[in-house]
Amino acid sequence: MINLTLTEALQKLNSGEISAVELTRAYLDRIEKYGADLNCYITTTPERAMADAAASDARRAAGNALPLDGLPIAMKDLFATRGIRTTAASRMLENFVPEYESTVSQNLINAGTVLLGKANLDEFAMGTFSKTSYFGAPINPWQMEQKLTAGGSSGGSTSAVAGGLAIAATGTDTGGSIRFPAAITGMVGMKPTYGLCSRWGCVAFASSLDTPGPITRTVDDAALMLTAMAGHDPLDSTSAPNGFICNAPLEPILGDGKKLRVGVIREFNDVKISDDMKALFEKRIADLKSMGAEIVEVSIPNILDALAAYYIIAPAEASSNLARYDGMRYGLRVEGSDLIDTYKKTRAAGFGDEVQRRMIIGTAVLSSESYDVYFMQAARVRRMLADSFNTAFEQCDLIVCPSSAGTAMPLDSDLSPLEYYALDLFTVAMNLAGVPACSVPCGLAQNGLPLGMQVVGPRFDDKRVLQLAKHIETAAGIDNRPTTIMGK
Ligand code: GLN
Repeated sequence: MINLTLTEALQKLNSGEISAVELTRAYLDRIEKYGADLNCYITTTPERAMADAAASDARRAAGNALPLDGLPIAMKDLFATRGIRTTAASRMLENFVPEYESTVSQNLINAGTVLLGKANLDEFAMGTFSKTSYFGAPINPWQMEQKLTAGGSSGGSTSAVAGGLAIAATGTDTGGSIRFPAAITGMVGMKPTYGLCSRWGCVAFASSLDTPGPITRTVDDAALMLTAMAGHDPLDSTSAPNGFICNAPLEPILGDGKKLRVGVIREFNDVKISDDMKALFEKRIADLKSMGAEIVEVSIPNILDALAAYYIIAPAEASSNLARYDGMRYGLRVEGSDLIDTYKKTRAAGFGDEVQRRMIIGTAVLSSESYDVYFMQAARVRRMLADSFNTAFEQCDLIVCPSSAGTAMPLDSDLSPLEYYALDLFTVAMNLAGVPACSVPCGLAQNGLPLGMQVVGPRFDDKRVLQLAKHIETAAGIDNRPTTIMGK
């Protein structure tokens, strides 16, 4: 049963071939068996899952099935879940049990999904390998002997879905945290247009960039999940007025003489990527061409400056957002000799090194002597990037580019902070511009590990992004169930 995609499972649930209770039990068995090895969940909720599943079967029996009724999912542990511990993978929130539900998780409850648990991640979503988690890093199920990263920050989500420990999961993408982990685990990761999915109740990292989205095994699954997750929310001031409705299966946008201009970013041509990534990317471009797409070269002049701008803007916003963890209202509190000492002790004990580094960078770039040279400059680069994407989308309908330079790296890789930051080169520009981008598997490298490429579109063109991603998925035709633990 765990080999079914979300779309397939939904059909079987609706036809009565399987029940939500059976499907949920199958996933709980998998969690029992592999959960500790993969370390993909911080908290599992088996009782809640069985109750959700029973309620779902009852709704279906009464003829009131909801759109995703009975599908067992993992929730990134950044989304507040009422009555269920929500940690952001930080010691600061190790024992935090919210009294409210995030809009995205509420939307998924309203769609009938079953909650299996809260997925591991980088602390406060800051990182690329999920190694900054207070609860230890999740493992990539594609290679169990040598422990490889499942990516970050949504690495628990990708590890769970790739390993068959959830049928789909939520993620958040501030600078690549859905797309990078999806790419190196052979999953589909969709970062929608900024504002399509509400940020309310999602632990804030960098509010102007934070974007919830789905992580799934197929593009059709992503369309169904995103439809359930998205929607206008008066509780989020940057929520888009429009919702997103996109039923699977997605219709083709290529073939039968259909016209589509697909852009390739000139500036990325000079970026060093692995031979495998290069070869697979070129193969998929050739496929799109043979299906009738017109390939055009477009320029995003500042795209290589996106990384520098991101690592100013994101830490700046983080330093402000994380000021709330002061030991006074909720979360960890370490008593000091006076108020300031309590702040210091609480924050020194509650935050890990990377989170502290980000707050120090953020505070520095916002200080009066640095504001103009760092923060304002970064804001200008951001504006130019958004304009360049707009101009590029006058010359093409959608853009494609790699998701990463290469395959999953060993968790014990000894990289400097800057080397980690550099891994976000292909993903951060889309967050700065607020445009939708989906990472879709484009093939397997020589070492047997998956690689992904992105489809990027104009704001609110999320559906077409998914449609083109589906063509690439079909062309690549990889089996994205890792042989290690998928019982093959
Ligand atoms: N790797 C990036 C960072 O560390 C992106 C994180 C994210 O998207 N949440 O900031």
